[in-house]
Amino acid sequence: MKKAKPSKGVVHRRVSDVAPTYFECPECGYLTADPRFGSHEIACPVCSAYGDGRRTFPTDRLRRLDSRIRAYHRESEHEIVVILAETFLESILEDIIDRILTAQGASLNVRELVFDSQRSIGARIGRLFPSLVGESFEDVAAELGFRDFPRRWREIRAVRNAFIHDSPFRGPQETLTSKDSDTAMELLDQAYALFVLVNNRFVAGSFPKTQHRIHS
Ligand SMILES: [Zn+2]
Repeated sequence: MKKAKPSKGVVHRRVSDVAPTYFECPECGYLTADPRFGSHEIACPVCSAYGDGRRTFPTDRLRRLDSRIRAYHRESEHEIVVILAETFLESILEDIIDRILTAQGASLNVRELVFDSQRSIGARIGRLFPSLVGESFEDVAAELGFRDFPRRWREIRAVRNAFIHDSPFRGPQETLTSKDSDTAMELLDQAYALFVLVNNRFVAGSFPKTQHRIHS
């Protein structure tokens, strides 16, 4: 049988329309995209518990931000996309660091103190993350299949910062381009997968049941 011809003007580059959904193990914090876990068909590979389908990642807060960013991307608002995507990436990093701290037994007070004293994104990636897991963020990302992620994220941060703040050395960056915006969207999509892999490596199994915050 003859295959139907693809219609002209079809966009071949796959950009997701919505945020993905992952299900969280209520016992140990493991995350999976497998909907059978959310619907009680398969057990958690880490602790053998069944999912309840209610705990999902990303949080509603991240999901709302994600859908705004995608809407601005459809409207080619490159500058807003880059600025909001950077906010999203910083927020998702804070969430994963918070889960690692929780898995290591840190109380809410300690977690607040840590975030308060490590406010810059550079310090959170460069000092806080490796001090918690014993490896650099770059090495962890590379081992989990996202070798280019830290460098591309740094580059997007640099163009965002140059756009927002005049640099005495380079002068202001006048515009953010569609290429910057596309890079930001790719990083946003990759950030989910990387977050889940980091979670499953450093959090799943040691996450105290009473400390779940992912559904908040
Ligand atoms: Zn589990």
